[in-house]
Amino acid sequence: MRVAVITGGVGGARFLRGLQALTHTPQWTDLSITAIANIGDDITLHDLRICPDLDTVMYTLGGGIDNERGWGRTDETFTVHSELTAYGAGPAWFGLGDRDLATHLIRTQMLNAGYALSDVTAALCKRWDIGIELLPMSNDRIETHVTVDHDGERKAMHFQQWWLEHKAEIPAQSFAFVGADTATAAPGVIAALSEADAIVLAPSNPVVSIAPVLAVPGIKEAVMQRPVVGVSPIIAGAAVRGYADACLRAIDVETDAAAVARHFGARAHGGLLNGWLVDDSDHEVCAALTDEGIVTKAVPLWMRDVPTASAMAEASLLLAQDLGA
Ligand code: GDP
Ligand code: CA
Repeated sequence: MRVAVITGGVGGARFLRGLQALTHTPQWTDLSITAIANIGDDITLHDLRICPDLDTVMYTLGGGIDNERGWGRTDETFTVHSELTAYGAGPAWFGLGDRDLATHLIRTQMLNAGYALSDVTAALCKRWDIGIELLPMSNDRIETHVTVDHDGERKAMHFQQWWLEHKAEIPAQSFAFVGADTATAAPGVIAALSEADAIVLAPSNPVVSIAPVLAVPGIKEAVMQRPVVGVSPIIAGAAVRGYADACLRAIDVETDAAAVARHFGARAHGGLLNGWLVDDSDHEVCAALTDEGIVTKAVPLWMRDVPTASAMAEASLLLAQDLGA
């Protein structure tokens, strides 16, 4: 089975680690996985190009992630970061680890030498032996900016500043994926989607992880040609980690598993989804969503460790198969 997964950082990476583990089981030896990752969070700091979602997926699947934090390297230190901060060379709110810096140095050197981000990503992933294909959504520069009303004026700031410095506490008026409308999908992205038996929307932030990927011209159109199963990032009315609730509020969608499914929409009515997984605690929404054309199943959706993520990933594949994948 060929599966393409649209993903952000931490939630998507943990899901992908579960999916990757399935390939070592006898039932899923023929499973091949392509992850298409959001790059809207990318930022340049100290002349280094940083791609948080690509790196989170790479480190998580390669066994280099700090599991507790969910991002960055294991056994990380922040010596360079604190030295930079002592010089007043911010921003202090972006935690740049010493080990992590090596990744950004190599990426930036390769980009400056003319390599495309997809080639750089493949080169970095060689070291980590991640067992799946990891593609950035585009080789063009796309950055998510957030419009806010702050100190009496309306202004736009980089997503990372809103998320990390302001902890998403300033109400967002809107999100813009700057550069997306003129961008091209990275090589391999449209083919992976078109050739996939099923496409899975990882349990990633719908507004700032999944939406930017779908905003790249051609991606949504390709997704709409294949069976799509989504995995709810919302459990019992709460974002499991992070500030997805603040993002959903900005687009007038409730922080609720059914509301997010309806936001993506039923394929039968021009939306994305054929199927949707919710957590057991949200089982009461299954019947109504299924009636509306989104076949919905309840399974445990807390990713506590690799086995729980793997069970959830398997449920998404089985649902896709039930739907004709
Ligand atoms: P980010 O780019 O690092 O913010 O990561 P993603 O966008 O891929 O994932 C963040 C989302 O993952 C959060 O908004 C949560 O709603 C969701 N999430 C995190 N942990 C879990 C989990 O254990 N289960 C489920 N269902 N969702 C999760
Ligand atoms: Ca992210």
